[in-house]
Amino acid sequence: MRPLSSLQSGLRSVGHRAAGNRTSGLLAGLADFLLPPACAACGSPATEEVRAGAGPVCQNCRLGLPPLPHPACDRCGAPLGTGEAPSCLECADWPDEVAGAHALCLLESPARELVHALKYQGWRGVGGFMGAEMARRAPKSVVSADCVVPVPTSRRNLRRRGYNQAAVIADALAAGLNLPLVPCLERRRQEGTQTALNPVQRRANVSGAFLLTGRFRDVVAGSRVVLVDDVITTGATVLAAVEALGAGAPGAVVAYAFARTVPLSTDIN
Ligand SMILES: [Zn+2]
Ligand SMILES: [Zn+2]
Repeated sequence: MRPLSSLQSGLRSVGHRAAGNRTSGLLAGLADFLLPPACAACGSPATEEVRAGAGPVCQNCRLGLPPLPHPACDRCGAPLGTGEAPSCLECADWPDEVAGAHALCLLESPARELVHALKYQGWRGVGGFMGAEMARRAPKSVVSADCVVPVPTSRRNLRRRGYNQAAVIADALAAGLNLPLVPCLERRRQEGTQTALNPVQRRANVSGAFLLTGRFRDVVAGSRVVLVDDVITTGATVLAAVEALGAGAPGAVVAYAFARTVPLSTDIN
């Protein structure tokens, strides 16, 4: 990323980290005055729509979000390579309550830069853009769901970022689809980073990491739940969250992320 956009996002993050604080609001305003808004992905000067508050992403990047592979498994979205196998091996052992796992786009440029801006540059508004875009292009199973549940982040990440990126996305998605946001999952413990692990190790590492908060059990029971994260990689996080949601006996769970990786082995954590 170029120094100017880096400086811009840095300045902006000062304001965004403490939303609601009057001083930080003034700082963010000052940043906009000194350094006009730029696209969070490519750093180019803001187009009219960005200036008008349509979101921190220029039209080129918005239209250039990398498409998902085709043909792909209807359930998990994994590319169907040879077409020889009668069913997809990626999701063959997923529990029945997982109706599907979907993403808006592939985790490649400019989606990769957007995820980076949201996770590491304190650019919270990018999550709003992601959620709104996901609502606009949501698959039927998401549109017809009953509630939206964000994947919780670790306490350490929450302290560092000041927000849970999945919750910011989920909030905008829920608003766009007019569905209730139900933050019913908690992180039970701190697991190590997933980055260096293979898919089998990832599952073991994250299994048991989440807990369904007691007061939400009635809300989840029998409901069609949309589980929201920024990125889907191996599906290990999705499965761990479904494991926790299972205590509330949901009707079905559909995972929906902004981006996914293909093949399912690389990640940004
Ligand atoms: Zn751009
Ligand atoms: Zn599949």
